[in-house]
Amino acid sequence: MTPASPDRLDRAAATMGADGVDALLVGPGANLRYLIGYDAPLLERLTLLLARADGDHALVVPRLEAPRARDAGLDEHVDLVVVDETDDPFALVADRLAALGRRPCLALGDRLWATFVLGLQEALPGASWVRASTVTAPLRMRKDAAEVDALRRAGRAIDRVHASVGDLLRPGRTEAEVAADIGERILAEGHEAVSFIVVASGPNGASPHHEPGQRRLAVGDPVVVDIGGTVDGYGSDCTRDYVVGGPDAAPEGYLAAHRVLEEAQDAACRAVRPGVPAEEIDAVARAHLAAAGYGEAFVHRTGHGIGLEEHEEPYLVEGNRTPLAEGMAFSVEPGIYLEGRFGQRIEDILVVTADGAERLNRRDRAPAPAGVAR
Ligand code: ZN
Ligand code: ZN
Repeated sequence: MTPASPDRLDRAAATMGADGVDALLVGPGANLRYLIGYDAPLLERLTLLLARADGDHALVVPRLEAPRARDAGLDEHVDLVVVDETDDPFALVADRLAALGRRPCLALGDRLWATFVLGLQEALPGASWVRASTVTAPLRMRKDAAEVDALRRAGRAIDRVHASVGDLLRPGRTEAEVAADIGERILAEGHEAVSFIVVASGPNGASPHHEPGQRRLAVGDPVVVDIGGTVDGYGSDCTRDYVVGGPDAAPEGYLAAHRVLEEAQDAACRAVRPGVPAEEIDAVARAHLAAAGYGEAFVHRTGHGIGLEEHEEPYLVEGNRTPLAEGMAFSVEPGIYLEGRFGQRIEDILVVTADGAERLNRRDRAPAPAGVAR
């Protein structure tokens, strides 16, 4: 876990002030880790950061979690409000926010469980509610140097895993067997956790989020391998395409499509620089694929932000006019999906620099030979 820099709460408070939000209420998850570095367990008991625009911050924790919160040094930055087993946690929250008046504007964790949302709404009947992401997304989108460093190390780690994937994709093995091996390598190469593993062979490749199953690999199968884990809390996410038996064994039309895909992905990556609207990167990739007749075969947005979450803002999708800015990190991952035939996708993580972008994944993007002696 990269330690949260102490000024994040101050920056959140400043953003709240500018947005007319009186307090930010976030439970366990990425926002809590980002703001105070606390990796809290997700429990039926309420854990809730109350970050106020006026700088009077508190963390509501169950009694049995209080030592853990103190060990993490949290009481240096926030008041700990300890909830005993027979206390009403929502009443304690309402007390703590009473100074904000009867009609505060509260930004509530986007992924807080309904049981907590409803409890808070009952305890604070005069409040108006907005999503916490209205405050946190603009902050979290732009990564600081330590965050970029963690993403860079995650990128290198997943590149090392891809370097060995070709050897695992041998004829006769199932997707699930290969995925299990990849999971071990994701950890062996320096990730602390596996986030996801897609091994989609043959026609399964046409399903972008295919769950690795019992299909056995055969010579001539294209295989989409999309894998990621976390390093110090920050995600890797990289897709490469393989062909069992080598690219020459690929099905009719596969290699020609892949050349178009490589060009589309490269053109989209080269379009990344500060000031360009997020949707423009999607438009570049889509136009390139559409011009070659693959417009209908590209069924998802071009990319998603990445950081403490695998998918976060900014999303590279039509309609998102957010201008790209230095420090933003996201995937660029166009794909071609032909139902019943095959799929292919190329995915790199990029970080926006002062005048362009840094690609965090460096492995060759052409279809790689798999399952053949090298
Ligand atoms: Zn991916
Ligand atoms: Zn992705």
